[in-house]
Amino acid sequence: MKRVNAWTTYNKKQLTELEKVCSGYMDFLDNGKTERECVKVIESLAKEHGYVDLKDVIKDKKKLKSGDKVYAICMNKTVAMFNLGKKKLENGLNILGAHIDSPRMDVKQNPLYENGDFAYFDTHYYGGIKKYQWVTLPLAIHGVVVKKDGSTLDISIGEDKRDPVFCVTDLLIHLAGEQLEKKANKVIEGEKLDILVGSIPLKDKDKDAVKENILVLLKDKYDIEEEDFMSAELEVVPAGRAREAGLDKSMIMSYGQDDRVCAYTSLLAMLEVDNVEKTTCCLLTDKEEIGSVGATGMQSKFFENTVAEIMNAMGTYSDISLRRCLASSCMLSSDVNAAYDPLFAEAFEKNNASYFGRGMVFSKFTGSRGKSGSNDANAEYIAKIRNMMDDNSICYQTAELGKVDVGGGGTIAYILSLYGMEVIDCGVAVLNMHAPWEVTSKADVYETLKGYKVFLREA
Ligand code: MN
Ligand code: MN
Repeated sequence: MKRVNAWTTYNKKQLTELEKVCSGYMDFLDNGKTERECVKVIESLAKEHGYVDLKDVIKDKKKLKSGDKVYAICMNKTVAMFNLGKKKLENGLNILGAHIDSPRMDVKQNPLYENGDFAYFDTHYYGGIKKYQWVTLPLAIHGVVVKKDGSTLDISIGEDKRDPVFCVTDLLIHLAGEQLEKKANKVIEGEKLDILVGSIPLKDKDKDAVKENILVLLKDKYDIEEEDFMSAELEVVPAGRAREAGLDKSMIMSYGQDDRVCAYTSLLAMLEVDNVEKTTCCLLTDKEEIGSVGATGMQSKFFENTVAEIMNAMGTYSDISLRRCLASSCMLSSDVNAAYDPLFAEAFEKNNASYFGRGMVFSKFTGSRGKSGSNDANAEYIAKIRNMMDDNSICYQTAELGKVDVGGGGTIAYILSLYGMEVIDCGVAVLNMHAPWEVTSKADVYETLKGYKVFLREA
């Protein structure tokens, strides 16, 4: 099956538009390195585009009607946006879903210790990572410290030129003979992923003087006590900005593109598509990387409760209406796909791999081995989507995640499909997925955005 390379199809105007989209995307990556930061950015963009907070609608007992735009936030980590269409909600929603959490190292609740005249923060990694990739890189700390009085300190250290950065150390090559004999998953082990935070001892202190000095600094500079780490969520991520990659600047290299590349393009499509027939929805969730668990993960009742509240505010809520609404919905469940990497060709099956530049990637199913854990999209639904994409000249491709039996992965698709709605996995091809710095193609970002817009209007 021949798929075109999107770059060969662009005129000057389209290239200008593509660059504009990608520059907005790179800003989004820089301003949203954690799920909390993403939610903040998304909320402010939503407000700018006329969205109101569902909390206020409920509190003020306001009525919602078609044409209204509303958003709901769950615990500052997950967000759902709705643009209420002309048709009744019972006719279903057109949903774009993606996740805004990314692999990283989380600072433990009792993190600070001293060893060998160094002070460290102990971390626990989040999501699937090749641990050896996270050493000897400049790292930043992003997150919140919530004090006992309920006040929240927003932390971001390591992004500003004047900020210090942090790192996990690795053994010098000269002494690494034994280390290099180890299997790659043992070269750096989880408990070795501790970040170096200081080396000056506090004067006149005998025991743990470097640690004591860090505690003084934390108190002076941030008003943080050691016990405040208990109620902190601090995420250690690569320091630095998203960059254009390649001599032709055709690619983007950045932390956290899984899955913010789909989250940003879904968000932008949602903000740009207006006057909709069917109600449109953009659902950007947390905890996908660890199985969509917890109150802010896709498995929670947050989404269903939110739709119920919206129907209630429209005066159309009943249990059966809610069920009909969800069952009649269509969804693009977006997550990144593994781009074909010629240097690791052995992991891919060439005819069913995703390629840079060939546009939006659709996956009929995900999962591992015999499709275990997958949502398997219906042929009827895929036919409808093919038709939509072809009619609107969107570049797209179909792919599986690597060879059968080599591995696999899960997404949020199967969870929404439990309502009986049509769901298909789709997204953007990524190189180095889950590495500190991931790579995408600008053309794929642009085509995916265009594809989402078509879906919101026409599904
Ligand atoms: Mn993902
Ligand atoms: Mn992932």
